[in-house]
Amino acid sequence: MKCPMCEMSFKGETCVTGDDAAPEDGDCSVCGHCGTIFLYDAGRPRLPTEAEADDLARDTNTMNTLSRMQAAIIFARTGIAPPKGIDAVSVVIQSVENN
Ligand SMILES: [Zn+2]
Repeated sequence: MKCPMCEMSFKGETCVTGDDAAPEDGDCSVCGHCGTIFLYDAGRPRLPTEAEADDLARDTNTMNTLSRMQAAIIFARTGIAPPKGIDAVSVVIQSVENN
């Protein structure tokens, strides 16, 4: 499988709840290379539609987890923390919209 944004190949997935679970259709994840949020659909990662991104943005618990993952990935890749007042999720969603 590859990231739908940066096309980095995935060697596997890790479930954030610690369960030994495989991703199912509709589950969301974050690329460990570029930090892009994606959904699994028909067993493959794809970018969320605008409506799906809006639904995700309203899911506070999921977005809190995803934004912490993204912040860690972006910091690891760039050494730069997201600017104050702009969370890591907004930065990545903006980059998706620009492509
Ligand atoms: Zn990626």
